[in-house]
Amino acid sequence: MVKPKFKETIPVFFVNNEIHIGEEDGIAGIIEDPNGSIKYLISLIDGENTIEDIIEKVILKYPYITSEDINSALGSLDAENYLEDNAKRPKIMGEYEIERYKANLNYFSLFTSLNDSKFDIQEKIMNTNVALLGVGGLGSQILYHLAGLGFHNINILDFDTLELSNFNRQLLYSEENINELKTELAKKRISKFNPNVNLNMTNKRIECADDVMNHIKDSDFVICVADKPTMHIQDWVNEAVVKLRKPLVSGGVLNTRGRFYSIIPGKTGCVECHKKTLMDSDQSVNEELNNMNQVNFQRNNAAISSNVAMLAGAMVNELLGLVTGISEPRSLGRMIEIDYLTYQTYAISEWEKQDSCPVCQSIYSK
Ligand SMILES: [Zn+2]
Repeated sequence: MVKPKFKETIPVFFVNNEIHIGEEDGIAGIIEDPNGSIKYLISLIDGENTIEDIIEKVILKYPYITSEDINSALGSLDAENYLEDNAKRPKIMGEYEIERYKANLNYFSLFTSLNDSKFDIQEKIMNTNVALLGVGGLGSQILYHLAGLGFHNINILDFDTLELSNFNRQLLYSEENINELKTELAKKRISKFNPNVNLNMTNKRIECADDVMNHIKDSDFVICVADKPTMHIQDWVNEAVVKLRKPLVSGGVLNTRGRFYSIIPGKTGCVECHKKTLMDSDQSVNEELNNMNQVNFQRNNAAISSNVAMLAGAMVNELLGLVTGISEPRSLGRMIEIDYLTYQTYAISEWEKQDSCPVCQSIYSK
């Protein structure tokens, strides 16, 4: 039985004979209520009453109001995204998880109606396994976001050791650990930050697509922020995610800009499809391709923490959209650029699946 309740994020005020719902510009609603019947109806939307209870109680006090009127009012409030169903309970989360992820749940509730459950979204995250390639500047910030969101199963891969020059942007580590392996330090730090995270680590330099496949085979989604070896890493990761059909979010810092894209093998084009699309489009492609190849290439490490944070946040939100469906990722089959100086984001190129793509075709034509 549905028990409607105003969401935690939706304040309801009574001002004279008016009811004000919500407080954000553009989504606040004002309802006139000359005889107090709406105020009474709203007082019953407290998560304790079923819809049938609400109808019965309102009609008892205001006999001229019909059940259709009340259903229609509830439908309007639900359509405005004001309501959630208090009867929906978590399936695996206990009190501890509900408290730890309280603000996540409030955020997810912004995307739900009476038919959905914010708990389902959080639990989906907790049950999803993510492979993260690279825990340097961008990767270490992404890892923190993943742990904060409640991804409890994360597989990280890196081979680097910590250096003094990393600390301008790599917030996960401590100076006392210079020269130690980043994967081991990340595991230690994350186990304190969120002990629920099952963090598997691989200390390895990627040398071929098979290395990537071995690392991601048990994961549902892949994030790639590894940048070495520069000329091959994107191709190897692409081949691996297409073969294993794992959705990918990939990105890197490019001086005053950040770039990211995502692909769903079989649905969007892959990295090779992108290259082909660029080559078919015009002559300036070589220049563009060179830019693409350098997306993850931090030759001079012109990366400051605040810029890295913007890109890390955007990429994790793209993953969140892919995993939960609460929002459509903007970067599916598109190269999105963030300008760190203007805060603008825009697509610099987009591509479809190419029938003649050597990577996609070999898999999907079988
Ligand atoms: Zn392709």
